[in-house]
Amino acid sequence: SSKEGGKNRYTIFSQDLTLSAQNKWIIDQGLKTALINQEMFLNYQPIVNRDGKIAGVEALIRWNHPEKGLIFPDDFIPSAEESGLINPLGQWVLEHALVDIEELNKSLDLDLFVSVNISTRQLKAADFPDILSMAIKRSAIHLKNLRLELTETFLLESPEMAISTLIKLKKDHPGLKIVIDDFGKGYSSLHYLSRLPVDCIKIDRSFIKEIPEDNNRKIINSIVNLATSMDMEMVAEGIETVEQQHYPPLENCQYFQGFLLGKPMSRKNLIQFIEG
Ligand code: C2E
Ligand code: MG
Ligand code: MG
Ligand code: MG
Repeated sequence: SSKEGGKNRYTIFSQDLTLSAQNKWIIDQGLKTALINQEMFLNYQPIVNRDGKIAGVEALIRWNHPEKGLIFPDDFIPSAEESGLINPLGQWVLEHALVDIEELNKSLDLDLFVSVNISTRQLKAADFPDILSMAIKRSAIHLKNLRLELTETFLLESPEMAISTLIKLKKDHPGLKIVIDDFGKGYSSLHYLSRLPVDCIKIDRSFIKEIPEDNNRKIINSIVNLATSMDMEMVAEGIETVEQQHYPPLENCQYFQGFLLGKPMSRKNLIQFIEG
């Protein structure tokens, strides 16, 4: 009967209103005003070279929510991607990260690179090239010190678009480096890797986590061999132990990143970290 149907609908609706649905609603609503209310901020995590010296940083966004406190990106980036708010958010990240690191380079006479995470939806937006150009111009960052981190989903979803977009970005900004983040987590992009203008891959943390258990040795070896044969740089991410940092299959990696070598930190703490 219609009454029962109504009751069923009510039941389904009330089940959907779980705490996590409420949370999602709070996050979606809050995202709309987060930038205007200056609730977003950036942390910078050191990326070190083989000698353990800082070579660059990855910019990582955080949200200081008025009621919920500190929220990490895994809990709001997917919502922002869904709603499209990732575009203004990502623009904000680019504008601030490039200025922050270029100012730091100038004031401390350094030559650090900054690596910025870019969502698929940002790359697909028609105005992304302009937003990027503007951020580069305003910050006056050297192009060799700028890296864009993309995930494999972009390459998997629309490989032809990815190829042409990346070729154009690199042509317009000579020296800019394209990085594939979380490499190895997906799988099909191997097929397109040779056609993409990729400069660097970040070996996914899940492989590093297993070290020193030897299950992953062959996989890590083949990723390292692949990247080396394609003239790509490598970053080993998620380094938490000395054993992982000095794991022989990783010895040809140019860069290392992880809590052992430096946690994500404010710009102020980064200066202290560098001046040590
Ligand atoms: P990601 O780009 O792979 O960034 C690395 C994540 O691993 C960061 O988490 C970092 O804090 C964490 N991490 C670094 N070293 C270690 C370690 O040794 N052990 C462990 N367990 N974790 C480590 P975070 O900051 O929570 O960011 C999560 C993800 O959110 C990022 O993964 C990235 O995909 C995304 N994200 C962060 N900032 C931005 C942004 O500005 N824009 C976009 N589109 N995505 C962002
Ligand atoms: Mg990243
Ligand atoms: Mg990563
Ligand atoms: Mg990740």
